Amino acid sequence: MPRTLDPELRRALAARIRYYNEMGIYDFYRQPLSDRSGEGPISVDEAEIAISINQPESGEEMNPRKAAAVAMPVATEGDENIFEVIALKPEQSVSDPVKALKMIREDLGDCTRCVLHKQGRKQIVFGVGDPKAELMFVGEGPGADEDEKGEPFVGRAGQLLNNMIKAMGIEREQVYIANIVKCRPPGNRTPERDECATCSPFLMRQIAAIKPKVVVALGAVAAKTLLAMNASMMQLRGRFYDFRPAGVRSNNPDWDGCKLAVTYHPAFLLRDPRQKGEAWKDLQMVMKELGMKAPAKGAE
Ligand code: SF4
Repeated sequence: MPRTLDPELRRALAARIRYYNEMGIYDFYRQPLSDRSGEGPISVDEAEIAISINQPESGEEMNPRKAAAVAMPVATEGDENIFEVIALKPEQSVSDPVKALKMIREDLGDCTRCVLHKQGRKQIVFGVGDPKAELMFVGEGPGADEDEKGEPFVGRAGQLLNNMIKAMGIEREQVYIANIVKCRPPGNRTPERDECATCSPFLMRQIAAIKPKVVVALGAVAAKTLLAMNASMMQLRGRFYDFRPAGVRSNNPDWDGCKLAVTYHPAFLLRDPRQKGEAWKDLQMVMKELGMKAPAKGAE
């Protein structure tokens, strides 16, 4: 017999999960309710214990496989999946990624969800590129040039990213580029963890709408936020991760997530050009995955 939750309990749980989402907690994992010891109707607290919050402690390193596994809770057979109901976003009813991205942008609105909205941003920098791109680049946040133009990666670091993309044998217009936070942190500081947690669900929705084959995280902030793990760049680079955008489902059942690779942020490469060769190795790994022919020369 399929098990259904009492509507009252369901509403209470939905409210509790929304509350966690507002605090920046999006990843949960489920324990079978059959493990419960008590008799009688399930209480909200009991059900909440069964849906445990999965937040790594500060400094704790989360296993990448675990991060991928918790990124999209999966219903067990015959069991009601409250997450699917809660995570259903407006764009999930449309299959066209152009329309889906437009709906996500509309939902974002003139966002005031985190403090970055009142710390001098000129505009929200949503993302740019091919809505059907096979390859996505995700950076940290807009800088002054990006804030001015409303487009990610248009300053010096953007120029280098363009060169990196060109070196792969493709054009900037063929990929999609976005950031973890969509508003410029003052003085180009690193976005705070809570700012990343508040803004990144919109990026997750963008990824689910675009359905790329590979996401490249540019720098540690992007990598740590997307993978929900705390590790050094040295530990993060050099391999692929199975990635599913946290908290959302793609409207295409054939898209079950993608590969994610980590490389250096172009701004870091401008400061330390000796690492360009390492970044090029990362991009070659991505090209191989995408079946792209490696040009003879790397990024300048
Ligand atoms: S950074 Fe993101 S969450 Fe914060 S105000 Fe800007 S759009 Fe909203």
